[in-house]
Formats: sequence, C-alpha cells, structure tokens
Amino acid sequence: MSLTSRNAVVTGSTSGIGLAIARALAKEGANVLINGFGEAGSIEKERSGIESEFGVTCLYDGADMTRPAEIAAMVQNAEARLGSVDILVNNAGIQFVSPIEDFPIEKWDQIIAINMSSVFHAIRAATPGMKARKWGRIINTASAHSLVASPFKSAYVTAKHGVAGLNKTVALELATFGVTSNCISPGYVWTPLVEKQIPDTMAARGLTRDEVINNVLLSAQPTKQFVTVEQVAALAVFLCSDAASQITGANFSMDGGWTAA
Ligand code: NAD
Repeated sequence: MSLTSRNAVVTGSTSGIGLAIARALAKEGANVLINGFGEAGSIEKERSGIESEFGVTCLYDGADMTRPAEIAAMVQNAEARLGSVDILVNNAGIQFVSPIEDFPIEKWDQIIAINMSSVFHAIRAATPGMKARKWGRIINTASAHSLVASPFKSAYVTAKHGVAGLNKTVALELATFGVTSNCISPGYVWTPLVEKQIPDTMAARGLTRDEVINNVLLSAQPTKQFVTVEQVAALAVFLCSDAASQITGANFSMDGGWTAA
C-alpha cells in the first residue's frame, strides 16, 4: 500500500466526494481524520467501518468550516493524535442557486466561508508541519466552476475561482519544500450536493426534474454522464503518490469534456 505511514485530513468527508477520498486514502494505508456534518450514528459507522475495513486509524472531528478557530484546532487534533498531517484534502462545500438580486447575503457569506476561506485556514494550519517534514500533499476539490461560470451560482463560482488562485499561490510558496498543491475540478458528480440543488434549479429556471438533469446538468457534460466519486478519489490518490511529486499548482478537470467547450 503506497500511503502507509501517511496521515490525512479530509474536510467534508461524511458524504459524497470527501467520503470516497477518505476511503480511497485509507485503502492505500493512510490514517485519516474525517470531518463534516451528519447524524452521529452514521458518522460513527463510517469512521469505525474505515478502521475495520482498511486496518488504519480513523478519527472524526466535527469542526465547522465556517469557524477559523475550529479549523485550526482540527489540524492540531490530527497532528496530536496521528502524529502529523501529511495530506490535506480541502473538500467541504455547499451550493446555493438563486438569481443574484435575490441571493441571500447570509448564503453568500456562508459559501465564501466554507468553500473558499476554510481552504486558506486549513492550509495555513497544516503548512508548518508539512514544511518541517519536507513532504506534503494539498488537494483542493475545486470544480469546473473554478474555470467557467454558470448563471445563478454567483457565490459558488466566486469561491471556486478563489480556490484555484489560492492553489497556485500555495504551490509556488511550498515548491521547494516537497509539498505540492493541486486542484481537482469535477464536473457534475452524482452526490447529495447535486441532488439537493435540483429543486432550486427547477424553480430558478422553471423546469421539471428530468429537464434539470438532462438539459441543465448533463447538457454541460459532452459525455452525458455524471462523474463518479470513485473516479475523483482515484485522482486524489494518484496526486499523493511519488509519481506526482512534480505536479504542483495544477488544476485537473474531470468533467466529461465540459470545460473543453
Ligand atoms: P456533499 O454534500 O455530499 O458533501 C459535502 C460535505 O461537506 C459533507 O460531508 C458535509 O457535511 C460537509 N460540510 C458542509 N458544510 C460544512 C461545514 N460548515 N463544516 C464542515 N463540513 C461541512 O457534496 P459533494 O458533492 O461531495 O461535494 C464535495 C466538494 O466537491 C464540494 O467542495 C463541492 O463544491 C465539490 N464539487 C462537487 C461537485 C458535484 O457535482 N457533486 C462538482 C464539483 C465540485
């Protein structure tokens, strides 16, 4: 297993892409700290399941990604209990769909905090340890929306473009320390985040559920298929490998051809 003895923190990993990345890293032998919201019983089931299935240590930390102090404490918690944070996956994210003139101000603030500022806070906290050990992998789940826009997603598109810029800055700052920073930018991946935005998109555009899936979501993806969480996780694992040590500051599209158009 290629990641034995590595310790990973994956934000927003109680569901969807983050959970798949946490499981994939654990499968490669990494200890993982999972994070995110959800029902306590199901989170504990995922946590203990990762430990028993893959024979690694798996911790849970419920830090709220809108709260900088909790983010820093989560990284410290991982360093104290696992020994280090070698891999940081900034993945937590939410979506809200609305015309800009009606976009709730508190939703704007929340999306900027969770989808963008939390990435800064987590990297800021994890960087000293990575620099000292001269090894680290920072992976940011960005989005096709870090490269192109869609209407009605002002906060999300802004936050993801911000993450893409931060990724490049961090890559340059850490380039001589054995620490890489890269973005994975999926198109539409079938997860609760996508499922939840269907009703709002139906309302914003006056469409049926099937029309949203086929004419809005999959219309953007030339392959006409959703990306899977396992495909995103496999790229994250590759970015942690030695083969990827010279890949930094990159933003990998995994979007069925969306951003090629
Ligand atoms: P998801 O809703 O399945 O998972 C989101 C995770 O973030 C959950 O674990 C949730 O509990 C956590 N989270 C939300 N608010 C939080 C907070 N304040 N503090 C801590 N954790 C919080 O969504 P997903 O589709 O797996 O999305 C994961 C990431 O992938 C997001 O950054 C999203 O923008 C990005 N992304 C998703 C898609 C897609 O089509 N699903 C496409 C491109 C990018």
